[in-house]
Amino acid sequence: MANSKKFILPESEIPTQWYNIMAEMESKPQPMINPETREPLKAEDLYPLFSEELSRQEVNHTDVWIDIPEEVRDKYKIYRPTPLVRATELEKALDTPAHIYFKNESVSPVGSHKLNSALPQAYYNKKEGITNITTETGAGQWGTALSFAARAFGLELAVYMVKISYEQKPYRRSLMQTWGAQVIASPSMSTKAGRKILTDNPTYQGSLGTAISEAIELAMQTPNCKYTLGSVLNHVSLHQSIIGLEAEKQMEMAGEYPDVVIGCFGGGSNFSGITFPFLRHSMKGERNTRFIAAEPASCPKLTRGKFKYDFGDETGYTPLIPMFTLGHKFSPANIHAGGLRYHGAGSIVSQLLKDGFIEAESFKQLDTFEAGVLFARTEGIVPAPESNHAIAAAIKEALKAKEEGKKKVILFNLSGHGLVDMSAYDQYMAGDLTNHEVSDSDISKFLGE
Ligand SMILES: *Cc1c(COP(=O)(O)O)cnc(C)c1O
Repeated sequence: MANSKKFILPESEIPTQWYNIMAEMESKPQPMINPETREPLKAEDLYPLFSEELSRQEVNHTDVWIDIPEEVRDKYKIYRPTPLVRATELEKALDTPAHIYFKNESVSPVGSHKLNSALPQAYYNKKEGITNITTETGAGQWGTALSFAARAFGLELAVYMVKISYEQKPYRRSLMQTWGAQVIASPSMSTKAGRKILTDNPTYQGSLGTAISEAIELAMQTPNCKYTLGSVLNHVSLHQSIIGLEAEKQMEMAGEYPDVVIGCFGGGSNFSGITFPFLRHSMKGERNTRFIAAEPASCPKLTRGKFKYDFGDETGYTPLIPMFTLGHKFSPANIHAGGLRYHGAGSIVSQLLKDGFIEAESFKQLDTFEAGVLFARTEGIVPAPESNHAIAAAIKEALKAKEEGKKKVILFNLSGHGLVDMSAYDQYMAGDLTNHEVSDSDISKFLGE
């Protein structure tokens, strides 16, 4: 097995439980709070917005393992277990003594890891008698995943898609419509939040924060309708743990254990997914692994943001979330890694960063595309622009290992493929892409300092 290229688990090895890291954290993530009463939120407080089971998972600090419903496991079989691959060709190109492995979440029918949480979210809503769900989407990956999941469990879905992506990524919109979802460019005139933003700034290209406001508003005003979120929240990290749980078994097949585990970082779901099952052992002192969150230099919430209570959306409809944030009004540059254009980080990851269990590094857009193109030219898979951040971090670690003459085992999550993002690669190859730096004064401004 040790010389294999791919490590494939049989369907019977799809995990039967998700891993809930909150139950094992010594210093728990702080609770979300109600902005009006300043009271910590309980599961019941989330019921108007989210499915009840998902609300309970959100605040579950006690159960380490949570059963995956059989109906969800059946749908997981469409694409899981996903392969673990040793990036032997990339290793050769880098001439590094490091062993580089990647977990290939791009094989899901929607092209990213997002389906891992979309399926259970659709399932629990359906089971509780909900007929309609709403959501927002940036690059279109979450909306795409939820469109298929809504179809799989028989729900109607309305997706608010960030306008810049609606225009830059028309095929994501087509995918959502193919699976039967209704897609609306955000900001739109269909909500109070959208109308207000368009009145103030008619050419605004949208942001995830704005689209979240619109999706929440529609859910609150429509009977039998709930809102869903594809990242940031604790229950999303819970579902994504399936990535790392499979990877743990596959690394065992490879006869190695990672020294470094890497994920790109938007709100934290794929990073949590690949890292938490390994972090579990480090937290208990059984292992000494490094965990690196790779974020864009243009949206550097982990490396330059501040840990504080902030809203999850631009308008301020959500509860206050304890997070590393750039401020909920922060409006990131229109980089192609649309899924990483979010102002804040989930509360679990934020706590782990504060407590020193994980590290974060930021990468410039051009460096991430250079890494992605090298990966495509060696391993054959064209990565999502988001995933390019993880690849850039993995390459940096591999080159460091070469300098130090050390064998090092690197594992990263390939969160998605870039086949629907080829316009971004076109621009990169034409020399039309730029780096977007954020000034210190912008950071203080949006943090309200
Ligand atoms: C959404 C997305 C991300 C970023 O979201 P996280 O919640 O941080 O994982 C990364 N990669 C891909 C392919 C995505 O679709």
